[in-house]
Amino acid sequence: MSTSLPLEIAEFHGDGISSELSAAVHAVADALPIDITFHDVDLTLERRRTDAEGSYNDAEKAMRKCRVAMKYPTVTEDASPNKVLRDRFDFSVIHRPVATIPGVETRIRGTVDLHVVRIATGGTYEDPGRRIGADSAISIRLIERRPSFQASMFAFKLAEKIGANVTSASKYTIQRNTDSLFEEVAAGVAQKFPNVGHESELFDALLAKLIMNPEGYRVVVTPNEYGDFLSDAACGMIGSIGLGASASYSFDDDGNILLAMFDPAGGTAPDIAGKGLCNPSAALWAFSMLLDHVGQRELGAKLDAAVRSVISSGNTTGDLGGSLNTEQFTKAVVLERKLNQLNHSN
Ligand code: ATP
Repeated sequence: MSTSLPLEIAEFHGDGISSELSAAVHAVADALPIDITFHDVDLTLERRRTDAEGSYNDAEKAMRKCRVAMKYPTVTEDASPNKVLRDRFDFSVIHRPVATIPGVETRIRGTVDLHVVRIATGGTYEDPGRRIGADSAISIRLIERRPSFQASMFAFKLAEKIGANVTSASKYTIQRNTDSLFEEVAAGVAQKFPNVGHESELFDALLAKLIMNPEGYRVVVTPNEYGDFLSDAACGMIGSIGLGASASYSFDDDGNILLAMFDPAGGTAPDIAGKGLCNPSAALWAFSMLLDHVGQRELGAKLDAAVRSVISSGNTTGDLGGSLNTEQFTKAVVLERKLNQLNHSN
């Protein structure tokens, strides 16, 4: 057992399969050779209906204390909890790794091992605009230097760490004002990383090239909406839109990560909630990203590999054609790489 301080994690509980995903994460956490304390926050719809402000205040308090959080799926009724949390925590960058899962059938040949780094705000997604008469509408597209810089820095640091190049992708030939600002910032950041290659691609061309040559891209940084499109397209390439994990980051004035939240990309799956049937892989991958982020790199990598290895062995939950329930799958992951016998690394 480690003698270091416990790892403190804020845990945002949501709806549907949220509690089953959390149970899987706890089962793995219990098996790890490090002390972990979870700080529960109730973000269920029931709580939000009666005390939305209180629930988000609790989330903020736990996040400010721990600086890292696991979040599970939440139902959106009025306000989107994801948007509220993004605003409160000032998340400006989203990181979605998408990698081929051995054993999961795909329609595309080749191996995907892609990190999509996206500006979390702006683009066309704030949707400030209005209808003009019955048949027209306008929207405003927003690109800002600060989040462009933060996303680019994150992408280049990541690329440096994994020995990859960075591709910045946008429509800079068409959206000359907005996307050229984004590309200008990315090119400026590239100069700080002389050992990391950088190229700009037009976003539409990138999609085609990625499908034809998945191995040609490792880290792609984009404005908000393009990153959203690319994440789903890449998930389609690996044959599973619901098995991705995602991380959201905010930064201090010196560019260091201030707050980080990790979550499975899928929804609340109300049709299977409470039946012990859900696939916890994305939640476990989100947890492995959290471990990596807090410096437990070896544990994070082992957990990531253990989930892949169990899936590729054919021992899967029903959504992937297997017969294991959530608990059995989680147990197989824990046993797979003997997670409980690892020495922790920093
Ligand atoms: P929400 O409104 O929260 O997005 P949804 O049901 O509309 O919920 P998803 O939660 O993404 O959307 O579910 C889509 C389908 O995928 C459902 O049939 C669901 O059972 C299945 N599904 C989603 N997540 C999982 C999971 N972790 N394991 C197994 N099946 C899942």
